[in-house]
Amino acid sequence: MVDTPRASIELERFAWLPVLEEREDSPSVSKFHGTPFLSSPWPVCQSCAEPMLFLLQLKISELPVVPPGWLSAPEFELHREHGLIQIFNCVEPECALKTGDPYCGANYTALSYTWSTSYQTAARPGHAAIAPERVVVGWTKCTDRPSKETLLELDLEPSTDDLQVISQSHLRVNKLLGWPTSLACVDQPCCHLCGTKMTFLFQLTDLPVGENDAVGFLFVCPDHPNAAFAWGTTQRV
Ligand SMILES: [Zn+2]
Ligand SMILES: [Zn+2]
Repeated sequence: MVDTPRASIELERFAWLPVLEEREDSPSVSKFHGTPFLSSPWPVCQSCAEPMLFLLQLKISELPVVPPGWLSAPEFELHREHGLIQIFNCVEPECALKTGDPYCGANYTALSYTWSTSYQTAARPGHAAIAPERVVVGWTKCTDRPSKETLLELDLEPSTDDLQVISQSHLRVNKLLGWPTSLACVDQPCCHLCGTKMTFLFQLTDLPVGENDAVGFLFVCPDHPNAAFAWGTTQRV
């Protein structure tokens, strides 16, 4: 029998991994790529003016879990039932270099609700699809542990035996909650309404932009319907 390192008890968190099916569905479901629900014109990059690439849309009422306290404020009344979180990102080479800054203008994250019919149902205007649409049909609950990068960020020495075992169980995948692979590679955003540091909600690993080790992080304000997204290149140590 293998002994479980004692530290793993404190360092374990649950993460929920999306179960995906490759097919096209209505604009208002949880999905990667494909056609998003839009109640305003297609988001355009503030740096290069090109239409951004749609990466992810999550239907809030279908999330299996949310951070403690999130969605409880009166401002979230409509989001609890009809809310969507969407991530768009610019994929033009000069903009894709602006990685860790959620407010560089090449990222667009919306937390909105479906209060009308969809504004526009085309895929990214003027561009061929980069990836096929994948619909979220369910979630798998898994145990997650911190990566080597995160152990360093926590001032723990990842080369010690116990911690090496722990970091091998880190889930470097698309996931809801759990341990983000590394928050040191991005500027963790603050809500522009209340100044509170936003809470990590979702990690996106199969980005069509940047290096193979690029990981994207979606954050939300616990008290306001604000969301922000940034991606950075993590360092495997
Ligand atoms: Zn751009
Ligand atoms: Zn706020």
